[in-house]
Amino acid sequence: MTASSGQVGACSNSRCGHWNNEHNSYKCKEAGCRKRWKICQTGDHGDSGVYAICAKCPDHPAGGPEGFLEYIDLTV
Ligand SMILES: [Zn+2]
Ligand SMILES: [Zn+2]
Ligand SMILES: [Zn+2]
Repeated sequence: MTASSGQVGACSNSRCGHWNNEHNSYKCKEAGCRKRWKICQTGDHGDSGVYAICAKCPDHPAGGPEGFLEYIDLTV
């Protein structure tokens, strides 16, 4: 399977399983960091309507998007 666009196929986080086009990605808030956070927006993980974190910046655990502390963390 090829994934040239990055938007095709299913999420690489095995705990998520949703399609990539149901996600949003955010650049890490740490200045100069180019890593991206990947957020599942289906609201289908645990509490309904709550977003989930499928990928986070490994270097800056506080660098997530607005309100990410309320999200369900699928990376642990
Ligand atoms: Zn996901
Ligand atoms: Zn998901
Ligand atoms: Zn970062």
